[in-house]
Amino acid sequence: WAKADGRSQWALFEPERDAREITRYRLSSALPAALAGEHLLVHYQPLRRLADGRLHGVEALVRWEHPRMGLLGPESFVGLAEESGMIVPLGRHVLRAACRQAFSWFGAEASGPFVSVNLASRQLRDEHLVDDVRAALADSGLHPQQLQLEITESAVLGTDPLTGHTLDALAGMGVRLAIDDFGTGYSNLAHLRRLPLDELKLDGSFLRGLRSDDAVDPVDVQLVGSIVSLAHLLGLTVTAEGVETPAQVAILRELDCDAGQGTHLGRPADPADLGRLLDPV
Ligand code: C2E
Ligand code: MG
Ligand code: MG
Ligand code: MG
Repeated sequence: WAKADGRSQWALFEPERDAREITRYRLSSALPAALAGEHLLVHYQPLRRLADGRLHGVEALVRWEHPRMGLLGPESFVGLAEESGMIVPLGRHVLRAACRQAFSWFGAEASGPFVSVNLASRQLRDEHLVDDVRAALADSGLHPQQLQLEITESAVLGTDPLTGHTLDALAGMGVRLAIDDFGTGYSNLAHLRRLPLDELKLDGSFLRGLRSDDAVDPVDVQLVGSIVSLAHLLGLTVTAEGVETPAQVAILRELDCDAGQGTHLGRPADPADLGRLLDPV
């Protein structure tokens, strides 16, 4: 630490950064108790089929009901949980809650809507993951095809043998696998082709040039159209993320994109509030 009266204090003491570090440290230490005390909640956001507005699936998004700081989004604690390893029990909690919730909404119906759960790369490297998924399905009664797991490009980039086996085992059980935020990482479709994937989730950044009818960027439109075609060629369904306007829906529909997710199609909500969102728009 800097001496309180020393000239060097300006170089060494950065109150804002220190406050941030203290908050990070406090949140990280409080996470195990939050998990045990059931302060980690799961909200759900609908994914809608663009052809008819019907439900394609729902994505499970974790929240932390913090006693003093209010409802915290994943950006304030998921990274910390990855660093500390807490992401493994946290992820298992979300998985189990999501399967139970989906069963209560959809029952066991292989061809019905699915619940989509985000997996951190650390979870993919956890040797118990496949057993955890199997147990979550068995305990909830959900059919494996009603569960989708979202993995990022970076998590599968240098696919080590264990991750490869894990993905094969999950796909073998019938669980759906999706690539999340496609286009933000460095993977390419040729590499993804070798993975047992079912869905590609196109990152919202690709939709910026499609926001309004009178300012459509033709290059963005072509780009999205090409990705959709390539994904279809590989047998993947495509969900576009960050759908915020009716113009985007119209263009995506024309480009044959399968589904969309975003504020225009339904915001993430508490399970109790989601009932009405599950109807077609
Ligand atoms: P994601 O998987 O890409 O999830 C979509 C994020 O986009 C969500 O943010 C959602 O609220 C937000 N979003 C929804 N509609 C729109 C829209 O129209 N425009 C824009 N710009 N954003 C929209 P959220 O809930 O804050 O989650 C952020 C990220 O945290 C997620 O991104 C996911 O990577 C991660 N995450 C969430 N839940 C979990 C979890 O249970 N486990 C793990 N490992 N990661 C999670
Ligand atoms: Mg996701
Ligand atoms: Mg995403
Ligand atoms: Mg995203």
